[in-house]
Amino acid sequence: MNMEEEYKGKEATLFKKLEGKKVQCLACAHYCQIPEGKTGICGVRKNYQGKLYLIVYGRAIAVNTDPVEKKPLYHFLPKSLVYSIGTIGCNFRCQFCQNWDISQYMREKGAGAEILGQDLSPEKIIDHCKRNKIPAVSFTYNEPAIFFEYARDTARLAHENKMKTIYVSNGYESKEALEEIAPYLDAINVDIKSFSEEFYNKICGAKLQPVLDTVKRVKEKGIWMEITTL
Ligand code: SF4
Repeated sequence: MNMEEEYKGKEATLFKKLEGKKVQCLACAHYCQIPEGKTGICGVRKNYQGKLYLIVYGRAIAVNTDPVEKKPLYHFLPKSLVYSIGTIGCNFRCQFCQNWDISQYMREKGAGAEILGQDLSPEKIIDHCKRNKIPAVSFTYNEPAIFFEYARDTARLAHENKMKTIYVSNGYESKEALEEIAPYLDAINVDIKSFSEEFYNKICGAKLQPVLDTVKRVKEKGIWMEITTL
């Protein structure tokens, strides 16, 4: 498959241009600097000729209608159903991941892998929820920070239709991403997997402090938050 035929998804908004057609992604706390033709750590944000693209925009690999308690949120819209979506890719590589086949798909398959997922635009998501009287959309299964523009556009549309939105997150949102999604985000479950920096480094491929920073920022913004410790 050549570059012209490759599915590019949609141009991202959370990035900045660097010298020599390099870009820096601003979607999560890794802040990857990505050379032309490469993806960041998550495998789903790719530099095409000096612009960053979210290659899973509108491509949902996991789609289910779940009880909100399964997210888990126990004190937000109790007893409600939630339309839950996720994509391939992740910015963590937790060795105990229960969704390894989708979260690590790009790393396992390598560059040029087929972008798996059903065609599910933000409009289709909201239309499905309205027709089935589902009051909220949840971005879950993998880390929503990495598919930021897809989540943001869906969340914005959800609010326009008086629906609620939920993040199920590893807490690695960048400051910039949280700032932009906050007006459209009603609730979040943040997973604090350990209080050990070594654990985050060795087991998850990440750092602890950005997760704790996100928890503080979410609290300051007044978004409903519940914490998981798994
Ligand atoms: S979302 Fe995170 S891991 Fe993915 S490219 Fe951006 S900074 Fe890197």
